[in-house]
Amino acid sequence: MRKDQFPREIQPHLIPSPQGSYAYECLGCGARHGIEKLLYTCPSCKSVLLIGDRDWDRLKAIPGDLWRKIFDHRSMLTQPALRGIYRFHELIGSIIPMESVVYLGEGHTPLVGANDRLAQWVGRPFYFKNDGQNPSASFKDRGMASAFSYLNHLIRDHGMDDVLAVCASTGDTSAAAALYASYFVEGVTSAVLLPQGKVTPQQLGQPLGSGARVLEIPGVFDDCMKVVEHLSDRYPVALMNSKNAWRILGQESYSYEIAQMFDYDVSHLMVAVPIGNAGNITAVLQGFLKLLDLGIIEALPRVLGVQSEHANPVYLYYLEPDPRKRRFEPVNVRPSTAQAAMIGNPVSMPRVMSLVDKYRKLAGDGAVQVVQVSEQEIMDSMILANRNGHITCTQGGECLAGFRKAVEKGSVDSHVVGVLDATAHALKFSIFQEKYFENAFEPEFRVVPRDEYRNAPIAIDTPGSVPSPGGGQRLEPEEFQIFVEYAAQKIAQLLGLEAK
Ligand SMILES: *Cc1c(COP(=O)(O)O)cnc(C)c1O
Ligand SMILES: [Zn+2]
Repeated sequence: MRKDQFPREIQPHLIPSPQGSYAYECLGCGARHGIEKLLYTCPSCKSVLLIGDRDWDRLKAIPGDLWRKIFDHRSMLTQPALRGIYRFHELIGSIIPMESVVYLGEGHTPLVGANDRLAQWVGRPFYFKNDGQNPSASFKDRGMASAFSYLNHLIRDHGMDDVLAVCASTGDTSAAAALYASYFVEGVTSAVLLPQGKVTPQQLGQPLGSGARVLEIPGVFDDCMKVVEHLSDRYPVALMNSKNAWRILGQESYSYEIAQMFDYDVSHLMVAVPIGNAGNITAVLQGFLKLLDLGIIEALPRVLGVQSEHANPVYLYYLEPDPRKRRFEPVNVRPSTAQAAMIGNPVSMPRVMSLVDKYRKLAGDGAVQVVQVSEQEIMDSMILANRNGHITCTQGGECLAGFRKAVEKGSVDSHVVGVLDATAHALKFSIFQEKYFENAFEPEFRVVPRDEYRNAPIAIDTPGSVPSPGGGQRLEPEEFQIFVEYAAQKIAQLLGLEAK
């Protein structure tokens, strides 16, 4: 749609221009630090940071109703980047000029409703939001788009050069970081640190394919994270983990898109996300809080965090009902099929604590819940979802298992509708599906496949008397006909078909 065809009151706001006054805000000591340098922890107290807009209140001059129209209309523009996460420019990095925005197709991911069979199994209607349909096939692209857009802004407008982007990863962060870095013609290269043998073959192939330097570290993600933190403290590199608060801003777009899809009425929703390093749940909470503050939504949705029993520090923390008695303890992780969330010491825990407090003050204790699920439940849920039209990864299976558990526990009101984060595409984690179908899980996973969910290919072999095109030679027409009839008859027999 052309700009002059939009309603008059929207036109001045359609194309975002740089505005606001951003600063890193320390969650430990409350100090503010300028954003002209990349900063990951507070120089005074070492705590993690979030990014705030000191001039945030100017946004309240626009009523919620007009904001809704602005966001809705931007999706109709022909400027590609304004259909993605930057249609929420004012909320996620308004100091970045649109010319610096790096857009690779992230955001605007579909909501796919559960069919009746699946909804009945869970006990509530729900949707998956397919964040696996992002460019590198996980939600991490949302945060990478904003972190790299900010880097690009520093390069274009503030003379930064020769950036080496680094991250530690359970697989998807590195795929996303390597993809966005590879888009730069000059000025940016990337190196990613992976726990050896703890990412899937697809996830290993992604950063290799994007041309990143890929470094394999012995140990688990938490060990890689320590190495990359040490590296970023001592060397001039740009850390692209969610410790980098710019990542959080981009990932807030997930909440904004949900609000938009439900016409900004989210009070009946429960938004379920898997928790690993806890960047995602941080962004989801903060996103909805910002919408409420600007009057864009009138009430907050419930948020459900889900963890595996094999990596459950956040679950254990909130198990204690008395806030004064809660103490955070990192855990040693055990092998988990929700491998992208297999993290024992989440970097964003201080952010989660602070935002959960805020959220619960506004919407009640039940507004943020955390449940844990077994590895068996994760796998069964993923397989079942995908047998019902979805394309979810193991972490999406974890969300489904968690939502079902919360319903079972009676902590989900009967009118509530679920929105479950399918955080990555099923294909990235097909190795776990394979293990399930072949009953080949290592004992530590403690997963036993259900027979009715298993599946395997059936080979149609030909006996010696029947010609086969499998030999590489083209068959003569009559021979080929013999083969076709033999194979079709065999298949009909296997599928129990009667001739018409
Ligand atoms: C990173 C990731 C998670 C965990 O998100 P955090 O922000 O680390 O809590 C879950 N699922 C997938 C597919 C991921 O890539
Ligand atoms: Zn501080």
